[in-house]
This record gives sequence, C-alpha cells and structure tokens, in this order.
Amino acid sequence: MTIGSSSAVNADKRVPVAETFYSFQGEGVNLGRRALFLRFSGCNLTCGYPSLPRDAATDATGAMVCDTEYTWNTARHDLSTARRLTSGEVWAELIALDPATNDSSLPVVDLIVVSGGEPMMRQKVIIDVARRAHPDGRQVEIETNATIPPRPELIETGVFFNAGLKLASSAVPRARRIKPAAIVALQSTGRTRWKFVITGPDDLEEVSALQAEFGLTEVWLSPEGTTPGLVVDHMRIVAEEALRRGWHLTTRQHVLIWSDERGR
Ligand code: SF4
Repeated sequence: MTIGSSSAVNADKRVPVAETFYSFQGEGVNLGRRALFLRFSGCNLTCGYPSLPRDAATDATGAMVCDTEYTWNTARHDLSTARRLTSGEVWAELIALDPATNDSSLPVVDLIVVSGGEPMMRQKVIIDVARRAHPDGRQVEIETNATIPPRPELIETGVFFNAGLKLASSAVPRARRIKPAAIVALQSTGRTRWKFVITGPDDLEEVSALQAEFGLTEVWLSPEGTTPGLVVDHMRIVAEEALRRGWHLTTRQHVLIWSDERGR
C-alpha cells in the first residue's frame, strides 16, 4: 500500500470530534511549532479515577488528573453533543484553519497534532488524514496513551507518536494502562517518543522501571499542571534528575500562556 492511497479506509464513517483548532504545539520535540490540532472524543482510560465516574460528584483520587475530561467523562459532560465527522470533513476543517489557505504569502502550517481522548481508537480516520497531509508537506504526530497497537497501514503513513504512558499517579489500575503489546509495537516503529506526566519525584522510579522493562529509547518528562505556577514547580522538582538519567524535559507552553483555556 502506498502513501496517498485511500483504499481500506471507510471515508464515510463518522467519528466524534471534540474540537479542531490552530495553535502552537505546547509540548515535546515540536514545542513552539505552529500546528493544526484535531481532538477526538472518547478515551479508554480514566486518568485521575480508578474507573469511569458514576456521577458528577465523584472526586478524582489520582495526583495526575486528565485535563481533557470533556472528551470522555460522561458523568460530568454531555458527549452526545460531540460533532460526528467523516475524515473528509475533518480534513476540510483542518485546512480551513490554516491561515495560508486564505493568504498565500504565509507559510503553510506543516504540523498536524492528533489528540483526544485517545485518538488511536480512530485509526482509520487518522490514516486518511495522514495520507492527505504528507503529500501536502505536513507532518502528523499522534498524542496517544500507548494502550492500543498501531495498525500497519498507520505506521506506513510515516506518522510520529508521542506516547504518554500513564503512571500509578493516574489512579488507573496497571492492567488497564500498561499494555505490553502496544508498547512494543510503538517502540518498534522507530518514530515514538515516550512522554511521562510527572506530578512529583516519586514518579521517577516508575519511569525508570518502565524504561528498563520495555527498552524505551527516547524519554521525555512533562510537568503536570493546569496553571503556570504548577508547571514551573514540577519542572524545577525533576530537572536535575532528568539530566542525570538522560531524559528530556518539556514544558507545557499552552499552559504558560493560556492556563487551562480550552482550544489552545
Ligand atoms: S489517556 Fe489522556 S485523554 Fe485519556 S483519560 Fe488519560 S489523560 Fe485523559
């Protein structure tokens, strides 16, 4: 199968989309680059909670709590209002967000960030988006929780993976958040960066153990926090250890600029 082919992708299938927007990539290896964002609704994890909350009053018990609960927490959010789009409609929305579409004097936005929720639940749509993006000179990176193996057709498109393995601090039982087959498959693509959201120094031994268990080659620490103060505090707590252990450290630029404002 070649890049650019749309065979085996049901272009008419509709999937729930939480939002699309234009901003900077706020984390990781492409931090600061302008990007078009595609955020799907739905997730197979419940970070902050051991299971799906039964009602809106259920408090999170984890130190690391999902910052996009509006994509999956049906106890607090009405997901029935999520728009359901085909991959063609998704692509049209993304291109319309690029300022270069209406002003040819501007450079094209050459990065598309696919997120969620858990976007790997929507691989067919991502495959179609990636096949359209790459001939257009746009790179695609997927923010995934690394619990679902990538399909061969998705790997063939050349996408990159920002794989955020969840730690015990998420309160999600290990059997749900650590899926060895998915981790091994992602690592073997050669295009996966491993990202860990850090809530404090206690998380670091768990990162180290997971790196050793699965041979993770490129590790990034990302500070937990939905306010600039918390982000900077968590970076300061882990910076020296990251240097000592050979790990990269990203900030969360969107939080530093806009705090937890949605669509940024
Ligand atoms: S995997 Fe990501 S989107 Fe899903 S609950 Fe955890 S932090 Fe939220």
